[in-house]
Amino acid sequence: METLERVFGYKSFRHPQQEIIEGLIEGNDAFVLMPTGGGKSLCYQLPALHRKGVGIVVSPLISLMKDQVDALRANGVRAVAYNSALSQSESREVLTAMTSGKLELLYVAPERLMQGAFLQKLDYVDIALFAIDEAHCISHWGHDFRPEYVTLGKLRERFPKVPLIALTATAEPRTRIDIVERLHLSEARSYISSFDRPNIRYTVLQKTNAAEQLAKYVGAGNGLAGIVYCSTRKRVEDVAGMLRRAGISAEAYHAGMPDRDRKNVQEGFLREDVDVIVATVAFGMGIDKPNVRFVVHYDVPKHIEGYYQETGRAGRDGLPSDAILLFSVGDYITAKRLVETGENRDRNAIEIKKLEAMKRFAEGFSCRRKQLLAYFGEEHSGNCGNCDTCLNPRERYDATEDVKTILMCVYETKQRYGARLVVDVLVGADTEKIRSAGFDLLPSHGKGAGQDSAYWDAVINQLLDLGYLRKENEKYPILKLTALTKDVLRGGNTVSLVRPAAPKPKRRRQRLRSIARPADRALFEKLRALRKRIADEEGVPPYIVFGDATLNEIAARKPKDRGALGAISGVGTHKLQKYGERFLNLISQE
Ligand code: ADP
Ligand code: ZN
Repeated sequence: METLERVFGYKSFRHPQQEIIEGLIEGNDAFVLMPTGGGKSLCYQLPALHRKGVGIVVSPLISLMKDQVDALRANGVRAVAYNSALSQSESREVLTAMTSGKLELLYVAPERLMQGAFLQKLDYVDIALFAIDEAHCISHWGHDFRPEYVTLGKLRERFPKVPLIALTATAEPRTRIDIVERLHLSEARSYISSFDRPNIRYTVLQKTNAAEQLAKYVGAGNGLAGIVYCSTRKRVEDVAGMLRRAGISAEAYHAGMPDRDRKNVQEGFLREDVDVIVATVAFGMGIDKPNVRFVVHYDVPKHIEGYYQETGRAGRDGLPSDAILLFSVGDYITAKRLVETGENRDRNAIEIKKLEAMKRFAEGFSCRRKQLLAYFGEEHSGNCGNCDTCLNPRERYDATEDVKTILMCVYETKQRYGARLVVDVLVGADTEKIRSAGFDLLPSHGKGAGQDSAYWDAVINQLLDLGYLRKENEKYPILKLTALTKDVLRGGNTVSLVRPAAPKPKRRRQRLRSIARPADRALFEKLRALRKRIADEEGVPPYIVFGDATLNEIAARKPKDRGALGAISGVGTHKLQKYGERFLNLISQE
C-alpha cells in the first residue's frame, strides 16, 4: 500500500489487485484474467518491488516492453527491456546490471529468456518473480499464437521456488484452460474479472451519410484522440483525406504503407501530434495509449471478437470513452459476399456465422453491453445506462397478434423452412417455390400483407432473441417452434416487442455525445500543453508524464503546494520531484 502511493501515486487498489499482489509477495502463483485497462501490470510490478531480486516479465512485443519500461522509469523504478532492439554493448550492460542485483524489473522476449546461456545466468541471480504477460500467446486457440511462448512451459519446473504469474485479457474458455495447462499453473489461484468495460459507451448508428456522420462526430480542433477502423486500404485513405479536409488532424495507417511511414504515424499518435488514426485492423496490436477517447467502426466488423477487442482500445485509463459502429445492411451484404468467395468452405461457413452474429448485435434492441458480454459467456443484467439502447429505448408495442400470425405460419409450413420463405408466405408472395409446395393455399398465405417483408424480418429476429422461435441447422437454418410458442398460440400470453424502425427512416440527424471535459477546460488545455512540452523534452509519449485522469484532477483541484499535488492520483514521489515545480508554477499563474 505504501509502495502503491509512493511509487505509482495511486490511492487505492482496484479489485482484485491487492489479493493478487499479496499472494505473489507470499510466493504463490497466480493466473489473472482481466480486461484491457483493468490494471494488470501493477499486479506483478508491485510485488517485484517488494520481493528480493529482479522481476522477470515476458512480453511478446518490443513496443509493449518499451511503453512499460518508460512508464516505470518515469516513476523512478529501475526497469529495462532486454530484446533485439539493443546493441551488443547495451545487452551486456543489462546483463551486468542484472547479475549485480541492480535491476528491479527486466522485460524480456520469450526466446531470449529461454536461451540456455541466459537461463544459466539466472541460476546465479535472485529472481523476485516471473510474469508472463499476454499469456494467451501460448495457446493455439488464442487469436495470437506465438510458438516462442510454448517453451515457457519449462519455467515452472526449472525455477520451482520463484512465483509465477500469467496474465491475459482473452476470455475464450479453451484458451484459458490451455494457458493453465501449458504453464503448469493448476495449483495457482485464478483471478477472473468481469470483461465489462463500464466507461465505454457503445453506440450503433444507422449508416446513412457516413462521411458526414463521422466528420460531425469527430469535430475539428477538440484534440481528442481516436481510432477509425475501415475495412479496406482504399477506404482508409479516403476517410483520412476527408477528415483532414474537415480540419481534423488525421493520418492513415494500413499494412500497404512502408514500415517507416507506419512507424511515424504510430509515434505521432502516441506523442499527440496526430489526433485521429484511420486504419485497417492492422493497427492496434502493441498500442497501449491509455487516453484513446473514441473508436469508430466505419464499416461492419467481421466478428464480435474483433469488434470488442478494437473497441477495447478506447478508454484504458477508465475515463468516459465512445465506441461507435456505423452499420448498414448494405455493408453487411457486401461483407458476406466477400466471405463467400473464400476457398475453404468450412471456414466460410464459420465466418458467415460470425458475421451474422455481428449483424444481430447491430440490429438488436436490448442493452448492447448485455449482448456483448453474453457473447463471451458472461451474464449482465442489462440496463447499463451507458449504451445507445439503454439511453434511447425504442418504443414497445403489443405485438401478440402479429406474433401469432408468424408462429402459425411456421407451424403450417411444418417447421421446415427458414425466415425467407416464412416471410414470403406471410406477405402473400407468388413464387414458384410457394406454388409448388402448395403454400399459396395455406390460411397464412398473405395474412401479413398489411406489413412489408422488412417488418416481418425484424419481428422474427426479436422472436429468436426472446426464444419464441429457434434456429436449427447451422448451414441452412430453419425456424422451429419452442416451448414458449404454445403459451402464445393458446392465448393468454401477450408479447411486447420493440417497434421495428420504419423501412426508410427520415434522415434523422443523430446528435452525438461530445465527451465530457473537465469543468476548467482552459486550465486543462494549459496543463496538457505543459505535459506535451515535457514529454517532447524527454522523448516519451505525454501519457508517460501524467495520465488524462491525473490532469483532470489537477485541473479540478488546482493544488497550491507540493503536498496537495502529491495527493493527486498518479503523482508519485518521483514525478512530484521531477515535474511538481513546473505544474505548480502554471497553476499559480491562474
Ligand atoms: P492492462 O495491462 O490490464 O490493460 P494497465 O496495467 O495498463 O492495464 O492499467 C491501465 C490503466 O489503469 C493505467 O493507466 C494504469 O496506470 C491505471 N491503473 C492501474 N491500477 C490502478 C490503481 N490502483 N489506481 C489508479 N489507476 C490504476
Ligand atoms: Zn446498456
